[in-house]
Amino acid sequence: MDFKLTEEHEMIRQAAKDFAKNELLPGVVERDNKQEFPTEQIKKLGELGFMGMMANPEYGGGGMDTVSYVLAMEELSKIDASASVVVSVNNSLVCWGLDTYGNHEQKEKYLTKLTSGEAIGAFCLSEPEAGSDATSQKTTAIDHGDHYILNGTKNWITNGNSADYHLVIAQTDREKKHRGINAFIVEKGWEGFEIGPKEDKMGIRGSDTHSLIFNDVKVPKENRIGEDGFGFKFAMKTLSGGRIGIAAQALGIAAGAYELALEYSKTRKAFGTEIKNHQAIAFKLADMHTQIEAARLLVMKAAVDKDNGDNYDLSGAMAKLYASQVAMDVTTEAVQVHGGNGYVKEYHVERLMRDAKITQIYEGTSEIQKIVISRTILQD
Ligand SMILES: Cc1cc2nc3c(=O)[nH]c(=O)nc-3n(C[C@H](O)[C@H](O)[C@H](O)COP(=O)(O)OP(=O)(O)OC[C@H]3O[C@@H](n4cnc5c(N)ncnc54)[C@H](O)[C@@H]3O)c2cc1C
Repeated sequence: MDFKLTEEHEMIRQAAKDFAKNELLPGVVERDNKQEFPTEQIKKLGELGFMGMMANPEYGGGGMDTVSYVLAMEELSKIDASASVVVSVNNSLVCWGLDTYGNHEQKEKYLTKLTSGEAIGAFCLSEPEAGSDATSQKTTAIDHGDHYILNGTKNWITNGNSADYHLVIAQTDREKKHRGINAFIVEKGWEGFEIGPKEDKMGIRGSDTHSLIFNDVKVPKENRIGEDGFGFKFAMKTLSGGRIGIAAQALGIAAGAYELALEYSKTRKAFGTEIKNHQAIAFKLADMHTQIEAARLLVMKAAVDKDNGDNYDLSGAMAKLYASQVAMDVTTEAVQVHGGNGYVKEYHVERLMRDAKITQIYEGTSEIQKIVISRTILQD
């Protein structure tokens, strides 16, 4: 077992770190306050190749491995989890989904724009009555020969207003239950496609989360992904990889908060000495460091499983479950290490604490990850 990263991996990590420091850090507090989408920053990330890292170079992708992707996710998330969720959805849900299951025409038309950052993607599965229970899809797409007619509402859609292309999951045949579900590429601006108001969120406030309403939207048949009835499997396979990205996001949020707490402990004095010299603080740092390293190993294991072509449903679920808990624990302790300063925006740790919570909710809650893990370990 080799725990060393390659030179290329180190370069990718450094590039993401530099970008986070130079391009994301300035304005991150303001964007969070104003709930402002990082438009310029995402455009630049696209130009630098961070929006389609793992996709096939034939369609403008970086052809990189999952390890490279999680390294970039960790570094970007240390500073700005709102920007990193846009990167995550675009890379592991939209680009990976299209690259793996789309046909050549779909990839040429859509993937090439998504990998370059010219267009942004969204993944639309959740509905008001279909969150954890994603099989309860109420959105319908009725077959009309050369096209489908799409009706229904999706909610909580990341990049809801910023995305140009939406991968929409809908029921095409209710009798067939989850085997009667399909995935479609839907373009922003198509007649009958409305974008609902922006959610006013606790964290990742720079990302735009919206409900989407489809009223008799005509979707050409060539925009269906895969064979008829493949949609549910498409969503589950795609989310399985997406979880590795969110686990890396959680890891980054934790590591970012830890780095700030470590530095602060070396400068802030109480009772005549730097607070790092109080064992209560030093032990907090020791716990944080250990938890982060354990989370990193789980994230890397899941990424390596995926890169090796091994099953990553279990390792991805464990990585997300654990890293998101670490993100909550570490960010809370980082606020504590900062004392009163931890409670105000300019010190960044309160934002990271708010951002951490979502990693236990989206792309499958922690309870759903435990269902995935327990079912796997309990099966014969
Ligand atoms: C900011 C944000 C961004 C999001 N982005 C997207 C996106 O881009 N695309 C998308 O499709 N969705 C997105 N989501 C939706 C997200 O994936 C769902 O919110 C999540 O899957 C949970 O679904 P729910 O909110 O309906 O909760 P529910 O399913 O109603 O769950 C409520 C509670 O019950 C628990 N629970 C439910 N079923 C079980 C069970 N069987 N056993 C034990 N506990 C259970 C849950 O874990 C949770 O604690 C986003 C959500 C948020 C908040």
